[in-house]
Amino acid sequence: MRVLALNCGSSSVKSVVVETATGVRVFERARELDAQGHPGALAALLGELCDQSLLGGIEAVGHRVVHGGERFRASVRIDARVLAEIEEVAAMAPLHNPANLQGIRALQQALPGVPQVAVFDTAFHQTLPPRAYLYAVPYSLYRDHGVRRYGFHGSSHRFVARETARRLERPLNQLQIVSAHLGNGCSATAIRGGISVDTSMGLSPLEGLVMGTRSGDVDPGLHEFLAARLGLDLPGVTALLNRESGLLGLSELSPDMRELEQARRDGHAGAERAIESFCYRLARTLAGFVVALDRLDALVFTGGIGENSADIRARVLELLGPLGFELDPERNARHGADSNAEISRGGPPIALVVPTDEELLIAAETAALVEGPGSERLGGREPGGDGR
Ligand code: ADP
Repeated sequence: MRVLALNCGSSSVKSVVVETATGVRVFERARELDAQGHPGALAALLGELCDQSLLGGIEAVGHRVVHGGERFRASVRIDARVLAEIEEVAAMAPLHNPANLQGIRALQQALPGVPQVAVFDTAFHQTLPPRAYLYAVPYSLYRDHGVRRYGFHGSSHRFVARETARRLERPLNQLQIVSAHLGNGCSATAIRGGISVDTSMGLSPLEGLVMGTRSGDVDPGLHEFLAARLGLDLPGVTALLNRESGLLGLSELSPDMRELEQARRDGHAGAERAIESFCYRLARTLAGFVVALDRLDALVFTGGIGENSADIRARVLELLGPLGFELDPERNARHGADSNAEISRGGPPIALVVPTDEELLIAAETAALVEGPGSERLGGREPGGDGR
């Protein structure tokens, strides 16, 4: 099936047209937003698909939707009711869902009658138990306002867990895994038998690990302190924590790990500081997830940093030494490519590198839902097939 996977994000629009039976990409474009915003980027995308005579051949569209609230536990065909429900949830993710909705509406208009599917970042984490998803605030905030941990990057964590099972030739339902998705946004998840049981992002994608420009965890008392000291209002504090913090804030140089690694080699103290905090906070979170599992079989790295930075992986495994990890430096230097993904010796626990591909996942999930059960294969990958 020929599927357009659309990731209409807060700062860019990524689109891929995939032949899902083979995994072949016939079109791929990532467009940063300019003054014309989402309408401009979407119009340009549609124009390009039309010029390349690709628009008419699209059989289904898969949309990444960041927040599905508690309503959506899996991907879903979009109809008027679903659209209204996504709109309701949009208040939870004001930076993300409105953009996703614009993408859905534009494609519904351009391709009337073509099935459209919503794939939610939060869906995989709907299995978290209350002890993991509740914040210790008045329970009425959960009951009446949906204040809880939702978690994000779900499609990616789910995919790498399945792929880990495949590479280790073990049934997924017998594996206890922690996964680290490390891109511009970063999150970690504890996965027991293929089910997400804890994750580091929360009500919004701001909580948890140190990220490119996001702070991750801070003392909630920081908000009042910053208001008093700097005269910031709440949106000002939120903007500071989302856009000026993380690797960028700590290094005073860049949010980009590749640049920071280069700067550290050149002796830049800020880069050293930022990388060390990034690794420490990540290792601390990963180790903490052991309490959500009976034992730890595997740690899997993915995302731009997780897949490409041998130094970050080495430092994290060194910090996790007390859990029994032993790095294999040669396998790590080759990103696990020559050892069926493994970068450690012995074990369990085993450490692996598994590349993720969110647009491809969205396409596969969409085809699975539109074509029905048993159709979700994608070059040996089966993102839709764990029965959830
Ligand atoms: P996004 O979350 O936007 O999809 P990616 O998953 O592409 O982002 O990850 C981007 C991050 O990966 C950036 O910090 C980038 O510097 C980092 N990265 C990419 N390649 C490398 C590399 N070879 N070494 C270190 N970091 C890398």
